[in-house]
Amino acid sequence: MYDYHVHSNYSDGSFLERMVAAAADTALDGVGVADHCNVSDREHCRRYRRRFGFNLDRTYERRRDAIAELDAEHDLAVLDGVEMDYHPDDEAAIREFLADAGFDYVIGSVHELRETNVHMDYFAALSERERRDAVEEYFERVVGLVESGLFDVLAHADIVERNPALRGYATEDHYHAVAGALADSETVPEINAGRVDREYGQFHPNDAFLAVLAQYDVPVTVGSDAHEPGRLRGRVPLLREKLAGLDVEVVSPID
Ligand SMILES: [Zn+2]
Ligand SMILES: [Zn+2]
Repeated sequence: MYDYHVHSNYSDGSFLERMVAAAADTALDGVGVADHCNVSDREHCRRYRRRFGFNLDRTYERRRDAIAELDAEHDLAVLDGVEMDYHPDDEAAIREFLADAGFDYVIGSVHELRETNVHMDYFAALSERERRDAVEEYFERVVGLVESGLFDVLAHADIVERNPALRGYATEDHYHAVAGALADSETVPEINAGRVDREYGQFHPNDAFLAVLAQYDVPVTVGSDAHEPGRLRGRVPLLREKLAGLDVEVVSPID
């Protein structure tokens, strides 16, 4: 098994060397380092990059050299991935950056609604109707991400479920819209363990969403979404167990 979704200190995770060492401890066949990357020209994104120090658009070549060294030092394969923020206004900028950068594979993510990260308490202050609209907007964005053709992998397809304020508004119609778009594309969703060991306690996509994806024969890829070595070591066995119970084809995002 490969874990294609691990973060490092090239975005908001622990030191790259320690993340790869943790992956090597778990008997994975390979690990893909997929740090966050945002190339939007929109001002709030620029501000976010400045304040949080998300610089992979400038540092990926240095990271690539380290990944090649670590790949040579360890028995497991170490891959040069990326988790790109997606917004429809940024498609041209993303396309241009990715063509230049040439990562092994690209994960696409919708992390933001109304210029606000989906994890934020902001959503708890919204009315029922506004929350429902926000979730509707989220799934429209996800369909746009898939239809853009920019990405090998769709990250955490129902990430809104992580936020208690947005949980429970996703519908079968949303799942069918995403599954239909995936079935018509080369993009595959991932089984993402980013909140399986925290308050939410489930994988993305959740079981109801997975059942719909199965109707469309959509294959999946695998990601712990770990940001620390301990989370990586803890989530890999949970992913193995989850995959063993699923009747789904697991594919590599690299071809
Ligand atoms: Zn993400
Ligand atoms: Zn991630």
